[in-house]
Amino acid sequence: MIPVTKPFLPPREEYDRYLDGIWERNWLTNNGPLVNELELRLKEHLGLDHLLFVSNGTIAIQLAIKALGLKGEIITTPFSYVATTTSIIWEGCSPVFVDILPDKFTINPDLIEAAITPNTSAILATHVYGIPCEVEKIQKIAEKHGLKVIYDGAHAFGVQVKGKSIFEYGDISTCSFHATKIFHSIEGGGVFTKDPELLKRMVHLRNFGHDGFEKFNGIGINAKNSEFHAGMGLAVLTHLDRILTIKKEQVRFYKELFKGLKVSFPHTNDVEKYNYAYFPILFPDVTILKKSMKALEDNGIGSRRYFYPGLNNLDYTQGDCPISDNVSERVLCLPLYHSLTKEEQRMIARILLRAQNN
Ligand SMILES: *Cc1c(COP(=O)(O)O)cnc(C)c1O
Repeated sequence: MIPVTKPFLPPREEYDRYLDGIWERNWLTNNGPLVNELELRLKEHLGLDHLLFVSNGTIAIQLAIKALGLKGEIITTPFSYVATTTSIIWEGCSPVFVDILPDKFTINPDLIEAAITPNTSAILATHVYGIPCEVEKIQKIAEKHGLKVIYDGAHAFGVQVKGKSIFEYGDISTCSFHATKIFHSIEGGGVFTKDPELLKRMVHLRNFGHDGFEKFNGIGINAKNSEFHAGMGLAVLTHLDRILTIKKEQVRFYKELFKGLKVSFPHTNDVEKYNYAYFPILFPDVTILKKSMKALEDNGIGSRRYFYPGLNNLDYTQGDCPISDNVSERVLCLPLYHSLTKEEQRMIARILLRAQNN
């Protein structure tokens, strides 16, 4: 059985060392020393001044919307994980879908202005598969129309644009540190901003609004994370560079093996520092996608239709996004994780070739 992804677990003794400390201190959660250490180490790793460790990547988006006080319509992408859209609705706003770029699958900045109405308060876009959105174009549009910008960077840990972490862009960026993501703390997430006032607001929002024991600053929620999760994050972080090197080589090898296959890939060549978090391939049509998926499944190999259906096509959403609809019908993510072997990759390629030529 080859799964589509496999969470990375550090050597057991490395995590045990963090557990020993937790038992010594008897401090399990509420902004403990491991949470602080992880925040510090992540700031160093990413080259950022500000970030907060939170309980997951979904609450990270919700905190961002809340901290910016967004109301009304939020322009967003149909091609992302469902949490991008549900967070908007959960915070009482309405998603307005703008179609994606056919080569990068991120939101098409040239279509944003036509979707702006007097009720638009922000743009919430996803760096899907770690492919950076057109951040500079989006910034210009946002400035011109007085809109806020949030980036869902759940896939984008470690990605850089113009020598800076991708998380430096937008008013607030978010990330997910879920077990299936490239960097993880079992469950977890991050919010990033350059604005110290916004950061302070999110510090309060993360912890019920507490500003000291007896004072409250606004309506908060529980978005804290625990010492156990922070310990896992710290243990995983030291292995991340090695994991990235492995995944980069796996992606290169897949592309070599797939030379005879009629598939294409989203455009990542001009990403200056990519993270190889996923391996999406685009089939010529949905029939060959389904045939290929079935052939993989029959051989015990996992694959996932990330992202199908498009988020404009849910029971509770609407939007006309033909490019996204077309891409989401034809895209499939193949197994990609630290311990996937070359032999397994060869087998996957053989199965796909056979399915195509049958
Ligand atoms: C995983 C993911 C999320 C949600 O993160 P969780 O940590 O699972 O809550 C949000 N957006 C995207 C694009 C994701 O892939």
